[in-house]
Amino acid sequence: MRRIERDDHTAAARLPRNRLARNPIFGRRLGSRRRMAEKLLQASADSVLALGRHGEIKYVSPSIRDLLGCDPRELTGRLLSDVLPVERAAEVHDFVERMVSLPIGRSERVESRLRTAAGEYVYVDVIGTNRIDDPDLRAVVVSLRDIGERRELERQLIRQAYTDSLTGMPNRVMFRHRLEEAVTSAEPLPITVLLLDLDDFKLVNDNLGHSAGDELLTTIAERLRGQVRPGDVLARLGGDEFAILLRDLDPADASGLAERLLATVHEPIRLASRDITCSLSIGIATSAGGEPGAAGLVSADQLLANADLAMYAAKRGGRNAYAVFDPSMTMSVLEEAQQRADLEHALEHDEFRVLYQPVVDMHTQRLTAVEALVRWQHPRDGLLGPYHFIAHAEANGLIVPLGRWVLRQACAQLARWRAETPAAAGLHVNVNLSARQFQYAGLVDDVSEALADAGLDAPSLTLEITESMLMADIEAAKETLHALRRLGVRLAIDDFGTGYSSLSYLKQLPVDVIKIDKTFVDEVHLDEDDVALVDAVAGLGQALKMKTVAEGIETDEQWETLRRIGIDHGQGYLFGRPAEPSSITELLSAAPRSDRQHV
Ligand code: C2E
Ligand code: CA
Ligand code: CA
Repeated sequence: MRRIERDDHTAAARLPRNRLARNPIFGRRLGSRRRMAEKLLQASADSVLALGRHGEIKYVSPSIRDLLGCDPRELTGRLLSDVLPVERAAEVHDFVERMVSLPIGRSERVESRLRTAAGEYVYVDVIGTNRIDDPDLRAVVVSLRDIGERRELERQLIRQAYTDSLTGMPNRVMFRHRLEEAVTSAEPLPITVLLLDLDDFKLVNDNLGHSAGDELLTTIAERLRGQVRPGDVLARLGGDEFAILLRDLDPADASGLAERLLATVHEPIRLASRDITCSLSIGIATSAGGEPGAAGLVSADQLLANADLAMYAAKRGGRNAYAVFDPSMTMSVLEEAQQRADLEHALEHDEFRVLYQPVVDMHTQRLTAVEALVRWQHPRDGLLGPYHFIAHAEANGLIVPLGRWVLRQACAQLARWRAETPAAAGLHVNVNLSARQFQYAGLVDDVSEALADAGLDAPSLTLEITESMLMADIEAAKETLHALRRLGVRLAIDDFGTGYSSLSYLKQLPVDVIKIDKTFVDEVHLDEDDVALVDAVAGLGQALKMKTVAEGIETDEQWETLRRIGIDHGQGYLFGRPAEPSSITELLSAAPRSDRQHV
């Protein structure tokens, strides 16, 4: 399409009013229908525009007044590019051109920011549909929807995802992010990481109570703040663990800083009319240390792992001390090989087991699904939870066969329950996927084989993935999700709210379930901010037609609050811990079949 020339532009600007009068939808001849259409448009949340092929505004619904504060009559007949600021002319031109060249009846969606008559910005979803060939319309129909609330929620989620609520410091996710930036930065500055862990914090918490524990942490946070430079990153990683990221610090000076930190934390703190003395253990790792030439080669994970090993060395060395990482602290190649061999052996000798945790309907408490959670029945160490081995399996790649095994077990188990009892007919099974499994090219085949071998219908299986797995490579993730969706399995976002929550992505992904992380649930019955966030996520779920599940519900108060908010399903110790298949059979038999629902 050609660009709008100046002459065209004035001609076009004059045209529409006359045309509109003759148009069956907009014209006077169908006055009553038009009034009805206008009323409908007014009532809907969207503002609707009809644009001619050059961007001339043929019609604007009255609700534009609410959205942008302008008079629809003043807009009608003008060119869209004249209404918006000059610097957006090219964008408007491209938009109209794209819409006009869309196949007839097809729509396209973009997000945009518009300025109201009062000079404020509003964020809108813009959906354009090409109806140029429709003799009744001859227009590109554009609807504008205010998405300010969604943006605000996004902002809140991001802020919450990156800050520690007690101290207002960056949290672990943010720290990791900043460390990654520093490590991959082009500037070859030395990077130093200090990991700080309070000694015996648990004692304070247990003896003086939770709120004294919080007060202690806040005081310590303040003291630590006093020791770092404005450009340094000081974060609370969780519990009683803090971390500092320093760039451009002579590694030798790190010891000086560590000593100052130990001293400031060691000064008495008045708490509940008592003087308490605290101490720290500090682990230091630097990217400039080690052999020459090693700088810059150390990954963020490696630096953190090294600092962690140094911190444990400091703890072992008697606490109230710091230790600088040295390679003798690393797990040896031999140890790594041993770990891999152990895991392989465990897989071959059936040492893994799958437990199933109930997911229930929030109102009826009826079992709707179970989440498969893996355990290792270790011949020497007893029953081990996933935290003891999933990360190792992820690192050495054995997570792929292990994950496949869990998936096959879970599908077969659900088929077995179905064969045992009619009460399992509507039951679903949820299986966690790890990042590596999600990237594995054979995943879709594995899933389809597991279903076929168990004789299970695909919609009975829900795969759980985390936001960070999606965000690592959103395009690849989308492809995988769509391939899984084509199989018919359902998809859930796990630990929602702990990663980078991009709600606009969420909208584009074929996701069925949002699992709200336990951190939001923990204080939901006490904290208004958490209520507001969970409430917003529930609204989001409704708008996107996704079911919401709250994780980690332990008390009646939490349950009650979440139920009031309108969360669909719940999971947590209150309803049942991860259990053997036989316990689930009992639960199933206890519940009548009629009002089972899908999660
Ligand atoms: P997740 O997917 O978030 O699983 C929920 C975890 O929360 C489970 O821990 C469960 O036992 C625990 N949980 C549930 N309700 C409550 C509650 O009310 N209070 C508390 N404190 N905890 C609760 P689990 O079984 O230790 O699993 C931990 C993580 O390990 C899982 O977190 C998941 O990320 C991973 N995982 C477990 N099984 C598998 C698996 O087969 N494959 C993969 N890739 N990861 C797995
Ligand atoms: Ca999960
Ligand atoms: Ca989870």
